[in-house]
Amino acid sequence: MDFGLSEEQRLLRDNIVRFARGVLNEGTIERDRDQVFSRDLWRRCAEIGIPGLPAPADYGGSGQDAVSCAIALEALGYGCSDGGLTFSLCAHMLACVVPLSRHASEEQKRHYLPGLCDGSFIGAHAITEPGSGSDTFSMRTRAVRAGGGWVLSGTKTFISNAPVADVAVVFAVTDASKGFQGGVTAFVIDRETPGFRAGQKFEKMGLRTSPVGELTLQDVFLPDAAVLGRVGGGSAVFATAMDWERSLLVAAHVGAMERVMEKTIEYARLRRQFGQPIGKFQAVAHKIADMKVQLDAARLLTWRAAWRLEHARSASLEASIAKLYASEALLKTALDAVQVHGGYGYMVEYEVERALRDAVGSTIYSGTSEMQRNIIARWLGL
Ligand SMILES: Cc1cc2nc3c(=O)[nH]c(=O)nc-3n(C[C@H](O)[C@H](O)[C@H](O)COP(=O)(O)OP(=O)(O)OC[C@H]3O[C@@H](n4cnc5c(N)ncnc54)[C@H](O)[C@@H]3O)c2cc1C
Repeated sequence: MDFGLSEEQRLLRDNIVRFARGVLNEGTIERDRDQVFSRDLWRRCAEIGIPGLPAPADYGGSGQDAVSCAIALEALGYGCSDGGLTFSLCAHMLACVVPLSRHASEEQKRHYLPGLCDGSFIGAHAITEPGSGSDTFSMRTRAVRAGGGWVLSGTKTFISNAPVADVAVVFAVTDASKGFQGGVTAFVIDRETPGFRAGQKFEKMGLRTSPVGELTLQDVFLPDAAVLGRVGGGSAVFATAMDWERSLLVAAHVGAMERVMEKTIEYARLRRQFGQPIGKFQAVAHKIADMKVQLDAARLLTWRAAWRLEHARSASLEASIAKLYASEALLKTALDAVQVHGGYGYMVEYEVERALRDAVGSTIYSGTSEMQRNIIARWLGL
């Protein structure tokens, strides 16, 4: 097995880390406090190709394979301390750009992908509803055949980027007599479509620079050309998005873990109590040693899942394992970082309390930890 990075991958990683540190971090504390999403920073990210990393070059993307995308997202999570911005970019890329790249018609690709890659469009992915979260497929949003197209009605909630999105992949029941396999269809919808609106924007505990909100559909008419994939093929579109999101969103978490760990090592070396650096106390050093073990394990699981996305028939099991492990490891790392920083860690200025608030969502979005364990158990025949 070769775990080395190619020269291109090394360059990609170094460029993103340098860019993120130089451009994205200033003002993060204030943006987090005020819950401000920066479209300007989004455009700056687009100038170096981040929003279009996995999209084919023919449509304006960077054409990176899944492992290179994992390396790039890890670099972003490492260099960029604005966890909300990183999260918004990941949601756009992994749950909108990827399903469009894989399932869209030629016409849809030409229409949407260049703008999604060059920073002029922001994407969202909407399946969750007020009454259906983990039980996704009990959704109530309906698409009914009418006037040579479809009429959609329903409400989607907790949708990342919804308040600022120009394009959304939205799931609706098209045949209630069938289950998720065959009964649900994905549609791609423009912000300007009559009846389609961004509703309430939520106040959140963490990832506060990433806007999350509702999308409402009130008798939204869509032509057949808005169907993504095929009618009844929503499960395949959703599976693509989840395999990529679960495998690669956590690559950004791996980067964040490394950044938080390094900050904690630095603090443990400098902070002195009882006449010595606190890092010399075994109780502190062991917490940091555990961070390193979790970081390396999460990185390997992420790379394995990313590799399988391109080389194996299915990556779903490995994606769930990576998602479960890396998100729980991120949460533990951030909590221990606050503990090692003591009272200073509890204060906004030291930026580890924000890392902790940002980390809490990771065991909920993209399927909760409990649901990942259910999926893994099912693969084990239970
Ligand atoms: C920051 C953030 C961003 C998000 N972005 C998006 C987005 O872009 N698009 C989108 O569609 N959704 C998004 N979501 C929604 C997210 O996917 C859901 O919140 C998640 O799937 C859980 O659904 P729920 O909140 O309805 O919780 P519920 O499903 O009601 O679950 C509540 C609790 O019960 C547990 N539970 C439920 N069923 C089972 C079971 N069978 N076995 C064991 N335990 C179970 C859960 O694990 C959880 O602990 C986002 C959420 C957050 C927090």
